[in-house]
Amino acid sequence: MSLISAKGSQAKENAQKQQLDLKQEYISLKENESVKVRILGAEDYVEYKAHGSFSHKIYTRPCSLQSDCPLCVASRAGIEEFNPLKARPRYLFAFYVMDEGKVKLFDATKTQAKKLIASIEEYGDDLQELAFNFKRTGNGKDTDYSLNPIIKLKGKDQENFDNAEGMKVDIKFFEERLEAKLGNDDYMVKLLHEAGFPVDDHFDAELVAKALEEKDENAEVTEVDDTDINDVV
Ligand SMILES: [Zn+2]
Repeated sequence: MSLISAKGSQAKENAQKQQLDLKQEYISLKENESVKVRILGAEDYVEYKAHGSFSHKIYTRPCSLQSDCPLCVASRAGIEEFNPLKARPRYLFAFYVMDEGKVKLFDATKTQAKKLIASIEEYGDDLQELAFNFKRTGNGKDTDYSLNPIIKLKGKDQENFDNAEGMKVDIKFFEERLEAKLGNDDYMVKLLHEAGFPVDDHFDAELVAKALEEKDENAEVTEVDDTDINDVV
């Protein structure tokens, strides 16, 4: 067994990854809150697979896409109660948040994504001039997000908008923020245990032992406000 887990560029990448404060990287809005955004490109969104089930208190966890992903294992265990943990597509949108001068991600359900994509396409030819109000309305399953063009930008807003001129978002931007949200296996097993899943029957003893030692500190690092999760099939 090696005590070194990564070398050179991989180690550097890992070190940088931990510096991402997810709260600063994702847009999180409360009911009736909004932010002004600039959409840098008409295709600045990606699809990924995530697990989530509100009733199990497991909120939007990216799937590692590995066969031993603990949440995949649970969803396939043949226990009906845990079937809803099956990985489903979710969507990440990159928006330039004008007041913060920073590109952030918004994590959307499929229904929310369809609507946002329709808005982006509707105004696709005008993204160079048009800023949007990105707003949340409603709560729980009635949560809705909308992008509405701002007809006229005033002083400081125009300046903030112009600051993003020429900026682009690449796939790596999405990947890094998604990876930072990927919890480790022990933590997933801990969440499953707390949700009442028989972890001893489905995971090896060493992993379970490690999982039960997991501190909640991990939660702070990986937990993002997911009050808008849609617990639907
Ligand atoms: Zn999975």
